[in-house]
Amino acid sequence: MKQDFSRSGAAAQRKTVFVALLLPSIVVICVSASFAQTKPGQRAHASMSPEAKALLEQAIGVVCTQAKLDPKSSIAIDEMQARPSLPIHSPEARAGAERAQRLLPVAKELVINSLRQLSTEYGVRKSRYFNLRLTQAIARVNSVRRVRPDMDSRDNASVYLSRPHVITFGTIFLAGLRSDEGMISVLAHELMHIADGDNDSLRTLVRAVGNRASDLTGLDIHGQRSEEVTCDLIGAMAARAYIVNSPDYESIARRLARSVQHNCVDLDEGDEDHLSPRNTIRALLALNPGLVRELINDRF
Ligand SMILES: [Zn+2]
Repeated sequence: MKQDFSRSGAAAQRKTVFVALLLPSIVVICVSASFAQTKPGQRAHASMSPEAKALLEQAIGVVCTQAKLDPKSSIAIDEMQARPSLPIHSPEARAGAERAQRLLPVAKELVINSLRQLSTEYGVRKSRYFNLRLTQAIARVNSVRRVRPDMDSRDNASVYLSRPHVITFGTIFLAGLRSDEGMISVLAHELMHIADGDNDSLRTLVRAVGNRASDLTGLDIHGQRSEEVTCDLIGAMAARAYIVNSPDYESIARRLARSVQHNCVDLDEGDEDHLSPRNTIRALLALNPGLVRELINDRF
């Protein structure tokens, strides 16, 4: 059994335990780089140059500055946590729920493409066994039908694997993601949990992403943290593809920033299963240097 709520720190952890006690039978799960050639069985140890680290920090600055300037920026998780619960029928929660449901079909398609792309990049598609698992994972993503708004879930989104066709979404979170880009990113994160399923079907890929993120950042990204980072990476990839497919008058950087912006917290706390929010952005950008370039080079 796996348990996870996708977004928050300590508050979510407490809530996860609470749900586990009440519903012991329900399984719950809660957002490119080149590789050195290695011999079979040997892992490439990637690292970042001081220059690359400086650019990454600059890109985080862009994301979190846009959080203050952009009227459609995503609210930071710690700020969401501090807000009172929002009734399902409040205008903000309804607007968020409609946005999520409208974007669900697009998010599914983008997740499937991103998952195929990531699997190819990490070299795991050479395995017939993995390809079979990938086909099953894609079928699970395709079978998701509905977003269920839930007042008690507050600033979390989650997937109950006993009901794999539904993504449960806290009303505060629905209201706090004020853009299509932010919403696609979180929907894609949850869909990636569904893709991985209750048997960690995609563990070969998840482990490879976690190892690479650990090497690049020096952070401990193993176990459930690998899955969370992979879900976030798929979320960022899906949001980027959405932006490319739907050009508008807004800058690319501003739109990209929305896909990770909910992590621009003041209170930066992680837990055993999640990196802290700001380290989540750090890991994502380390794994995806193209995003760093686009965030820094694009004008607002
Ligand atoms: Zn998650």
